[in-house]
Amino acid sequence: MKKRLIAFDMDGTLTQHKSKLEEPNRIALETLSKHYKLLMIGAGSCERIYHQLNDFPIEIIGNYGLQHAGIVNGEFKILESLSVSVDRDFVEKTVTMLRKEFGFEKFYGDNVEFHASGVITFPILGTAAPLEEKLVYDPDRLKRRKVYARVCEAFAGYNVFIGGSSSFDITQGKYNKFYALERYCTENGYTLDEAVYFGDDFGEGGNDSHVKLNGVDCVEIDNYRTFPEKAAKFFQ
Ligand SMILES: [Mg+2]
Repeated sequence: MKKRLIAFDMDGTLTQHKSKLEEPNRIALETLSKHYKLLMIGAGSCERIYHQLNDFPIEIIGNYGLQHAGIVNGEFKILESLSVSVDRDFVEKTVTMLRKEFGFEKFYGDNVEFHASGVITFPILGTAAPLEEKLVYDPDRLKRRKVYARVCEAFAGYNVFIGGSSSFDITQGKYNKFYALERYCTENGYTLDEAVYFGDDFGEGGNDSHVKLNGVDCVEIDNYRTFPEKAAKFFQ
């Protein structure tokens, strides 16, 4: 099947976690953009993704499908911003309980991050942890995989993802990256067979896992610096 659309995760795939897009990856994206429709599908907000990409002009779905932004007349524009309501009290209490159980009781800043969209982040090191500490905390995700089943159990009825460098992302309802991609394809005249998805976390609980589990062609990135080499396969 001829590919027409390439979708990307950001952190760990195109960039280091929460770090700016580097020049070799920007060039690879620009080259791909000449042959394909490009789409970001991220866990964070569209605005954060856009700025992290140094304002690279690209359509963005953020917050696992709750936000959508594009470039209109050369300007970044939020096109849709949904919000689901959250039982904050339950979430705070559940995270506090899990911290006690796992011994994650020391953290910087806040216990939980509540995003405007209704996405919840359980940051093991807290909302104000220094980036350097977050990067070395769990690079192989083993610490989080070990407790993943228990976090899912405590948040029964929610979707739990191993997100970012040291956190869990929690959403409600249908929101995940596959839902976001499928909806985009349906609304914009692409079939899922025409799409390719680049991600770095297809493992159990990984925030890219639904895309692969639903049969979309995926390219796995182990290190964001290898992105240009993996992307080159698609240059025509
Ligand atoms: Mg990632």
